Amino acid sequence: LLQLSVPLNFIGFVYREIRQGLTDIEQMFDLLEVQAEVKDAPDAKPLNIEQGAISFKDVHFAYDPARPILKGISFDVPAGKTVAIVGPSGAGKSTMSRLLYRFYDIQSGSITVDGQDVRGVTQKSLRTAIGMVPQDTVLFNDTVAYNIRYGRPSATEAEVKTAAEVAQIAHFIDLLPEGFDTMVGERGLKLSGGEKQRVAIARTILKAPPILILDEATSALDTTTEREIQTALDVVSKNRTTLVIAHRLSTVISADEIIVLKSGEIAERGTHAELLLKNGLYASMWSRQREATQAEEHLKQVREND
Ligand code: ATP
Repeated sequence: LLQLSVPLNFIGFVYREIRQGLTDIEQMFDLLEVQAEVKDAPDAKPLNIEQGAISFKDVHFAYDPARPILKGISFDVPAGKTVAIVGPSGAGKSTMSRLLYRFYDIQSGSITVDGQDVRGVTQKSLRTAIGMVPQDTVLFNDTVAYNIRYGRPSATEAEVKTAAEVAQIAHFIDLLPEGFDTMVGERGLKLSGGEKQRVAIARTILKAPPILILDEATSALDTTTEREIQTALDVVSKNRTTLVIAHRLSTVISADEIIVLKSGEIAERGTHAELLLKNGLYASMWSRQREATQAEEHLKQVREND
């Protein structure tokens, strides 16, 4: 029996090593898969960023030709502004952010950054210009500092700390047993969704990209966490062209324009106030969400009073 248990342990060890390797690879934005999907054009030039204005023109896209996902989407994100995409699950919201990052190529229409088609520029220059804060950040099995510094490897210790402060995560890190040297990720301390998202924000603050894509977590956050994350996002998106896949009221209300996507088409668009007046899809989504938030707050109060 003893003889058998040794090899089994060994297999467990090898398995964990492989898993670890896979996690690291997955984090590189699925780089390998991405490169298989799209290639640089032979005459691709580096993206020449002036202000970072984004434009979608009559974009049609399908993962599978038999099933169109986006059916003629046109909108602009002027330089420095924030556009929020909202809509029912499966409408194609995250797909839009993947297309801007050029994970896939569209079937027709165009996506441009400062007038340059994303298909005509090098992927490296495009992705350097865009900061992505995904719904669920997978952390490296390394220290907190390493995970933040990943946004700009040359950043000093002081810059990493400042980024953490701006991202509203410094206080949390200071309370960890080894502060910024605490190991996180699969093999270290596991962070909550909200904490991971703030690490991703700190990373993006260091990267300081002209364009930001934010995919908000759908999971409910408590009011304090939500407020902290919103504060961090307000800082990071200030004067940056921002496309946000929005789930939280706080983000939506302050967006310069809201695009309501339904089954791959723009059902409504406008500011929060304009859309409420329309009393359509957005207005009903909004009142439903607000009721849910109020119910949650109420429950919390009841629990606290117990
Ligand atoms: P949610 O709010 O639930 O995140 P969403 O509006 O962001 O939804 P998308 O993730 O953009 O929706 O997906 C739109 C549609 O595309 C869905 O029906 C989904 O099943 C399909 N889809 C997404 N990713 C792929 C993929 N890699 N291959 C094939 N189909 C996909």
